[in-house]
Amino acid sequence: MLDPKLMDEPARLAALDRYEVLDTPREPGFDRITDLVRSVLGVPISAVSLVDEDRQWFKSLAGLDASETPRNVAFCDYTIRQRAPMVIADAREDARFCDNPLVTGDPNIRSYAGVPLETPDGYNIGSLCAIDTVPREFDPGQIAILHNLAALVVEQLELRRIAERDHLTGALTRRAFLSEMNRAVALFERHQRPASLLLFDIDHFKQINDNHGHPVGDRVIRSIARLCAGLQRPSDSLGRLGGEEFGILLPETGEADAAKAAQRFCEAIAATEIPGTPALRVTVSFGVAEARGDWSTCESWLAVADMALYEAKRSGRNRIAVARHDALHAT
Ligand code: GH3
Ligand code: MG
Ligand code: MG
Repeated sequence: MLDPKLMDEPARLAALDRYEVLDTPREPGFDRITDLVRSVLGVPISAVSLVDEDRQWFKSLAGLDASETPRNVAFCDYTIRQRAPMVIADAREDARFCDNPLVTGDPNIRSYAGVPLETPDGYNIGSLCAIDTVPREFDPGQIAILHNLAALVVEQLELRRIAERDHLTGALTRRAFLSEMNRAVALFERHQRPASLLLFDIDHFKQINDNHGHPVGDRVIRSIARLCAGLQRPSDSLGRLGGEEFGILLPETGEADAAKAAQRFCEAIAATEIPGTPALRVTVSFGVAEARGDWSTCESWLAVADMALYEAKRSGRNRIAVARHDALHAT
């Protein structure tokens, strides 16, 4: 029977993209599942393989050391073309795989069982697989276990996504934003890659809630987030750090360009009419801080940007302020 979702590669790649998981660090929750596959099915190798446009990328790989392979040698690329598990008892006897370099050479794959990772909307984004270096059969009980564990992988991807996106605005949650900041701090420390943090807070927001009600306040928060998301570069991250306070992380951006960007955001927000009853305008205040050795943790970087934000509020709001380089030493 024709299954259009199995043939729609652009939609499948978009479904994979929505999880924002490719090239992220290892996470114990996924490693636990591949460990379980190894011990319960008695195989030396197991992977959570996500099939990207030209490669399979491993969110978890137990029993081998690799982060990805080209897609054209991936067994999992066959698994995702079907709904049912794919089981290969002896790859040397299978015309699709007998001359595959992963069979004829390292790691000498002989047998394979893979269950597609099917998203709730029906796209196969990868597979959970068990691999052995000797020919073997997999019994129905083992395939059923693999099936349940594959469902757990997808549930974990879903929970991961929910935990990273703020429900009201779609911006990163505080937790996810801090982990982006941590990545920027590491790149700065290791490779001197610059990065800047813009922190902003809506001015006199209590009055909006008081005068127009909380639902209108929510609409303002959502509109500001949408406006910022539309203005930022694809590599920038927007996070909702608190009620009506946001952060924008600008990788590869020094203080002068960050200040210009903040000024641009600030003016665009002030110029935008928020649709509602009646149409409203709001202003925001920005604190700008470039990553520096003087504040080498996420917490101190945020604290310094927050001091600049406070300065912008104190000196009249609807403006930006850049962090002082001696911010942590000034009294
Ligand atoms: P300032 O210019 O100094 O920032 O003044 P402000 O009135 O904006 O003060 P502050 O930032 O301290 O106030 C934040 C207010 O935002 C308080 C809280 O009631 C409201 N708020 C926080 N989260 C939400 C939310 O999710 N929705 C709505 N509608 N209001 C929120
Ligand atoms: Mg405020
Ligand atoms: Mg606030």
